Amino acid sequence: MPQNHILQTRQDKINKSLENSYDLIIIGGGITGCGTALDAAARGLSVLLLEKGDFASGTSSKSTKLIHGGLRYLKQFEFALIRETGRERALLHKLAPHLVVSEKMMLPITETGEYGKMFTSLGLGIYDYLAGVKGEDKKKIISVKKAKKKEPLLTTDGLNGAAVYSEYRTDDARLTMANAMTAERYGATCFSYMEVTDILEKKGKVNGVIVEDALTGLSYTYKGRQVVSATGPWVDKVLDIVDDNTEQKLQLTKGVHIVVAKDKLPVSQSIYFEVGDGRMIFAIPRAGVTYIGTTDTFYRKSLNHIEVTAEDADYLLQAVNRAFDTIDLTADDIISSWAGLRPLIYEEGKSPSELSRKDEIFISDNGLISIAGGKLTGYRKMAERMVDLVIKRDKKLERKESSTENIYLHESPLADAAAVVTYRKAVRKIIKDTTKSKVKASMLVHMYGLRADHILENYNDSTETDRDLALTLAELDYCIEYEYVYRPSDFVIRRSGMLYFDPLRLEKYYRDIAQRMSEKLNWDQDEYENQLSKLENMIAESKNFH
Ligand code: FAD
Repeated sequence: MPQNHILQTRQDKINKSLENSYDLIIIGGGITGCGTALDAAARGLSVLLLEKGDFASGTSSKSTKLIHGGLRYLKQFEFALIRETGRERALLHKLAPHLVVSEKMMLPITETGEYGKMFTSLGLGIYDYLAGVKGEDKKKIISVKKAKKKEPLLTTDGLNGAAVYSEYRTDDARLTMANAMTAERYGATCFSYMEVTDILEKKGKVNGVIVEDALTGLSYTYKGRQVVSATGPWVDKVLDIVDDNTEQKLQLTKGVHIVVAKDKLPVSQSIYFEVGDGRMIFAIPRAGVTYIGTTDTFYRKSLNHIEVTAEDADYLLQAVNRAFDTIDLTADDIISSWAGLRPLIYEEGKSPSELSRKDEIFISDNGLISIAGGKLTGYRKMAERMVDLVIKRDKKLERKESSTENIYLHESPLADAAAVVTYRKAVRKIIKDTTKSKVKASMLVHMYGLRADHILENYNDSTETDRDLALTLAELDYCIEYEYVYRPSDFVIRRSGMLYFDPLRLEKYYRDIAQRMSEKLNWDQDEYENQLSKLENMIAESKNFH
């Protein structure tokens, strides 16, 4: 592969990493792996994290992107889970106020619904209590009139009122990236595009891994005192590497989201509504779009290519059309979509919605530690438990408590929600020559926090007369330089969120993006055409279903 400074820097980092052996090797760069890397590095462990694709390329970029206690878990009486995740919400907001933002949810109460006013009020009361929600953020039950005033789109027929309660919204891939980058600030070494292909043992105990570098095809061996598999849906596959006869630990379910333009479903706030089959789904406004999800169906196909089917899309469209009687969405209105797999703990005879979302840790006979289940929201506590265990198992490691509840997920954190608003206004002024500058400023600040300054610097330096293109390339340049972007999907899905939240801008500029990446990463003509065609397929697949 032709070298340039980006790839050379990566190769230098690999060469340096090969000189060390590690206290902890983590397989998997989703939220669980990156959160664990941060917790361990902050306690002084030497940490190596290996991700086979891009950071967050598994489930951690395909969620509903909520930091929530999980109201539905009340039904399963999972009070401990609600308490833990509920309390994490406010903490994550404090640690990353640009990225974890407060979001009011509305839950319509209907005559035909499963829950009446009394039950909803009681349930949300317990929910707030468990999560320690205080003051103005506590749930409110409102009348039909007030509900319609807040959300005129709601179907009036059969509406009995609504509940309004507090949650938080995030960007899952950026939260994962923030953990990876913060872990590196604390001394961890994190690689994307490094697949663990084998696990090494000495005297029957795990002591390292063999990896293949997907960018160069080269293979490397790393030694580590302990190895953790935080591979989400791939946990069973990694267990198969060490023992073919391991019993199935996971039950995967697929969750699909579809995206429509804001004017096709102009909800004024996030709505959590009943589908009619005992399930509930969200409609969430973000940037210039509204996204709707999710489905929950058993999944047994490819882990690396998860398709949205016409049936998945139809389920969500019908649910929306029922809940909002003036809305008549069709498949043609879908401008983007995503599908992810829940790595749930296997339980005989349960339906997808009944399976617990609790996390569990398994230790194999050779000492490989696997973690699965859980939620994005609870990742910090999962990481803490995992590192507690790693330390307990190794007498050589210093007994140190987790400190992540005091570690900001940004090197220059914004102080609070008010500082985020002030910065957003300043950013908007700078990019005033772009179209939809308010939405773009909001996205830049949400995704990058004060790191957006680098993007603005690139933007100001650009002589490109199309200012929307100038901003797109300014963002891309920053991401290639500082955020490990090697493939178009790294940028358009997991750094900028453009494929999901600004797909029309992507359709306009995707060739420019591929061209710029080709120049920056020294792709030859074949590589350029290959990457461009993958990008075109990705855009087409996100809105065409079979
Ligand atoms: P992943 O993100 O899948 O990470 C595992 C990583 O391991 C992958 O990136 C993979 O490439 C890598 N890997 C696999 N094998 C190897 C190997 N051999 N070598 C190197 N790397 C490897 N939770 C919430 O709190 N809020 C929500 O709103 C929410 N919504 C959801 C909606 C849906 C549709 C789904 C599916 C889940 C949702 N969740 C939500 C749950 C949450 O997204 C997951 O619990 C979480 O993202 C799982 O993260 P993970 O790191 O364990 O797995």
